[in-house]
Amino acid sequence: MSYRQSNDEIQKLIEKQIELPSPPVIAVQILKNVQDENASLQDLAKIISADPALTSKVLRVANSGFYAPRSGVTSVERALTVLGTNLIKNIALSFVITNDLRNNRDESFDFDYFWRRAVTSAVAAELLTTTLRQKNEDIFVTALFHDIGVLIMYLSQGDCYTLLLKERKATGTQLFSLERQAYGFDHQQLGATLVESWGLPEQIYLPIGYHHSNADAPEEYRSTTEILRIADQLSSIYCEASAAEKVRLLQNEMVEMFELAPEQTLELVDQVATKSIEILDMFEIDPGDMKPYSQMLLEANEELGRLNLSYEQVVMELKESNEKSELLTKELLDANSRLKELVFRDGLTGLYNHRYFQEVLSKELSRAQRYHSCVSLIMFDIDFFKKVNDSYGHPAGDLVLMNIARVVENIIRPSDIAARYGGEEFTLILPQTDEQGMKVFAERLRRSIEGIVTSAGGQQIKVTVSSGGVTCSPEQTQVTKATLIDTADRALYMSKHNGRNRVTILKPGHDKE
Ligand code: GH3
Ligand code: MG
Ligand code: MG
Repeated sequence: MSYRQSNDEIQKLIEKQIELPSPPVIAVQILKNVQDENASLQDLAKIISADPALTSKVLRVANSGFYAPRSGVTSVERALTVLGTNLIKNIALSFVITNDLRNNRDESFDFDYFWRRAVTSAVAAELLTTTLRQKNEDIFVTALFHDIGVLIMYLSQGDCYTLLLKERKATGTQLFSLERQAYGFDHQQLGATLVESWGLPEQIYLPIGYHHSNADAPEEYRSTTEILRIADQLSSIYCEASAAEKVRLLQNEMVEMFELAPEQTLELVDQVATKSIEILDMFEIDPGDMKPYSQMLLEANEELGRLNLSYEQVVMELKESNEKSELLTKELLDANSRLKELVFRDGLTGLYNHRYFQEVLSKELSRAQRYHSCVSLIMFDIDFFKKVNDSYGHPAGDLVLMNIARVVENIIRPSDIAARYGGEEFTLILPQTDEQGMKVFAERLRRSIEGIVTSAGGQQIKVTVSSGGVTCSPEQTQVTKATLIDTADRALYMSKHNGRNRVTILKPGHDKE
């Protein structure tokens, strides 16, 4: 059912339910002028010039470069001559009617949003028409009022219509089909009826009547309804969410439908924002944070860049601090083990100290007893060391001690523990070493130390040691650490007693070989 065919029927339906608003006085005068074939250019100039605010708005549009790249239009008459009466009429009507239908005291309908969307659509339609090199002086006003039916339905039905708008939002159902269900007509038909009642020409009201049903539009208006549809989508880029997705789809459609180059479509998309901001200002409508799409992209990319950068920085810093903490941990561990070494080592010889010796002997003894293995202990003491100090000096004596320590370290196994028991007395713990093995080792040790020559102050110093050894065998599960030390000490004493530079082995707790 086309608008023409259903016109009467729909009109009756509309009239029954809706009181169509009449335009303000100045609009009525302009509209009369539209219909009056005899009206002169001067008459129209007079109507517009009577309203200083309207005059300045019309002149601003005339000089904006929106319609023609001319400037210096200083009077309405000049504007009418340069841009033509029809265009100026349309501009004037746009301002007057928009201004009249801007009651924003009501919170359930966002008038500002409605008009921002309408003006942006009008700008988009105008730019699209120019880009397509089509001529349509009515396109701005047609697009501006294409959804005016929505506004009128709200003004007439109030909350009932608000519910419908909510349902559209919630379900995504097309608004016009919800309207038809509720009222038997939709906002396209209502808008067209209203604009026709105002006396505006068919080329304005008919496309309004078919802007959602392009296929039903009379052939000669199909191009206009298409432009209205695309213009509405262009305006939604700047008035609604998911701009990128909309731009992508719209670009494809424009390239296909209008055979525009992709760059041209992007330029158009940007122009819609630039021009809309300017024109919205003339309509005294807040453009919000509207900005050209390419700028939106740029800012988004910059933001992304900043995020990436800071993300990279965070990663870098994290890596660095990890490395730092790893280094610190390593240093700490090193320091700890150095500290441990210091605590357990003897300062002069570098061998383990008495305390550590005691600890290790306890552990090794209980381990041997638990696993039924052997552990041997050797104690040795430098013979006549006092003489060394007395003859060569204390520092020379130190050198002797150090040389002995180095030799001991060289001949023991890694698992053996060599310690300085005190003064010129040393101990050796030999885990898993039986008496025979210990005996062999003690003898080798004795001979090795005998062979050491310490040079000090041009003198050659040689010393010998007396040793005492003891072994805790697998069966000796009751032997204590104290017994072992005591036995080794006694064996050492026996070596001294028996002539020094020798090894004496005793059984744990025994005092005879
Ligand atoms: P013996 O054969 O009976 O063991 O005789 P000795 O002289 O070795 O024994 P004594 O216990 O009488 O003397 C030990 C000497 O070792 C006395 C002490 O000054 C010396 N001595 C102990 N610790 C050190 C040291 O760290 N450096 C030096 N140079 N001498 C030390
Ligand atoms: Mg001694
Ligand atoms: Mg001594």
